Amino acid sequence: MAFDIMENQRTEISSLGEFGLIDHLTKNNETRNVSTVLSVGDDAAVIDHFGRQTVITTDLLVEGIHFDLMYTPLKHLGYKSVVVNISDIYAMNATPTQIVVSIAISSRFSVEALNEFYEGIYAACEKYGIDLVGGDTTSSNKGFVISITAMGEVVPNNYVKRSGAQKNDLVCVSGELGGAFLGLTILEREKKIFEQTGAQPDLEGQAYIVGRLLKPEARKDIIEFFAEQEILPTSMMDISDGLSSEMLHICKQSNVGCLLYEDKLPVNEEAKQFAYKLEFDPTACALSGGEDYELLFTISQPDYEKIGQNSAITIIGYITEPGEGKNIITRGGSKYELVAQGWNHIK
Ligand code: ADP
Ligand code: MG
Repeated sequence: MAFDIMENQRTEISSLGEFGLIDHLTKNNETRNVSTVLSVGDDAAVIDHFGRQTVITTDLLVEGIHFDLMYTPLKHLGYKSVVVNISDIYAMNATPTQIVVSIAISSRFSVEALNEFYEGIYAACEKYGIDLVGGDTTSSNKGFVISITAMGEVVPNNYVKRSGAQKNDLVCVSGELGGAFLGLTILEREKKIFEQTGAQPDLEGQAYIVGRLLKPEARKDIIEFFAEQEILPTSMMDISDGLSSEMLHICKQSNVGCLLYEDKLPVNEEAKQFAYKLEFDPTACALSGGEDYELLFTISQPDYEKIGQNSAITIIGYITEPGEGKNIITRGGSKYELVAQGWNHIK
């Protein structure tokens, strides 16, 4: 927890200058992929995916909108900025290979602060086997702005879109849902208390949910499992805005309906206990809470047995005819309609 982001030592960015800063931030940059033909240091990078198709995605993160430096350590922010980006590459059933990172910074930030941010970026590059191949550096008047573009590769035509779900396909998710939302809730609560009273945050026993928000991981393992088992999901996306909202995207783009089961939704036990403490419904957290970066996908019935071998995957329902709507059956057996912000009772 870093409510106090002051550094012991402070080196002004102006003492290095723009080019000095770029050199400093990229001097230990490694290249891991053969597809990286030319990396940082020229006008552009050169990538060759050798007959594979290239997948590309970009994200823009703005201080005060997407992150709060009051409770987000810069190292975690660097790591998460990369993870949320490559999560989109995995969601296409592709393997991320390169990123470019552009930043706009004010003089409020020291060289030491940027070092921390890049430590997080490099840690994610190492963990996921990707190369930082370029970027841009500029100044901003006040806030911190981060733009990351990720590239990846996929076996020709093995990419998975949102639009391929078919009637009777099984709906699956990786990992557990709702944790990041609960982590955000507790951090926002502690921030308010800190602002009003100066009291240091009490996060006793909340490591799981806080970690889900501040240090999410992308589901590389699931994409590798698909390749090993020769599973090609019929549709897929990553869960950044909450399960309900993403499920509705798949249904809309695939022109199908769905039926989910409340008792199948995977929610972590610690997260559940914390939800009860706040008098939140864990199911609502799983359906509407964002930023879990798990994968939501559909598979055709013949892949059922293969999916069963992976304990990180849960089948939560199935795809129906479009006319049957997008619904969830509760533990009590009632049927509710899925809406972007959770669920509505069907009259
Ligand atoms: P240009 O003037 O052509 O935009 P720059 O001086 O901005 O070139 O960048 C020089 C090199 O450093 C390029 O390879 C660029 O991609 C890379 N670079 C610039 N900023 C960053 C950054 N924040 N992180 C990583 N690489 C960067
Ligand atoms: Mg530039």
